[in-house]
Amino acid sequence: MVPRAWILSIGNELVLGQIVNTNGTWLARKLTLMGFEVKRIVSLPDSEQEVVEVLSDALRKGIEVVISTGGLGPTYDDRTSEFIAKAIGEELKLNDEALRMVEEKYRSKGLEITEHRRKMALLPRTAKPIPNPVGTAPGILVERGNTLIIALPGVPREMQAMFEEYVEEILKNKAPRIERVEAWIHVEDIPESTLAPIIDKVLRRYPRVYIKSHPKGEELGKPMIKLYVLVTGFNKDEVAKTLNSVVENLEEELIRAGAKISKEN
Ligand code: ATP
Ligand code: MG
Repeated sequence: MVPRAWILSIGNELVLGQIVNTNGTWLARKLTLMGFEVKRIVSLPDSEQEVVEVLSDALRKGIEVVISTGGLGPTYDDRTSEFIAKAIGEELKLNDEALRMVEEKYRSKGLEITEHRRKMALLPRTAKPIPNPVGTAPGILVERGNTLIIALPGVPREMQAMFEEYVEEILKNKAPRIERVEAWIHVEDIPESTLAPIIDKVLRRYPRVYIKSHPKGEELGKPMIKLYVLVTGFNKDEVAKTLNSVVENLEEELIRAGAKISKEN
């Protein structure tokens, strides 16, 4: 079975509709291209009940990878570490390595460790800290049964740097040995309802390929559709070849139906 991933985006600002959950989208794309099956992207408030419930559900289902963002900072509402500890039934403990990371950051700016800064080094007992090359709060890595829980900060720049510098390497061990490639085709002048049977036809020929149409214009006015193709397989050359022939096939059919097409990256 392909390893599953859940993404938890934690923060009151998300469920209040104040900010767009770009972290969820960014992580979903990364995990998908690594070969994980992202099953959920959940936005949650900074609430013990909500977060512990979802984490417990993930543990019960043995979801292979759970990545959260947000709630690692020094303010009273940053409680993700505490929620993870609750869900895995561990106490919070001052983690020496995490404390060293936090101390180093503040001391380099001539700042002392305060209670609120020390809070960022309180991790579940068996967790390991993930260095934060951009900000101050370390990430959290903890394993329970079949599930790897990774908590990253909410600030997109910090989250992305930590994922690319540390998390990606750790996840490679859990990622399946599959290859994924994708392409976009920009389609104009035919409505989505004309495109639909073309997609059906190509999918019958390539049943394991994922095709998704994204209508951007108006069905009966000036139709414009972005067509996405994702190919998954075990061999790099093979997936590249399949992608080429699916795209060629689609393009032939689209032109025959009177569409104007261009490739997109
Ligand atoms: P810090 O260490 O900076 O306090 P944190 O882990 O506590 O980070 P939050 O306080 O939850 O993170 O979020 C910090 C900022 O990051 C928020 O103000 C918000 O603008 C942004 N942010 C949080 N979550 C997301 C998200 N899912 N998508 C995009 N931006 C986000
Ligand atoms: Mg914060």
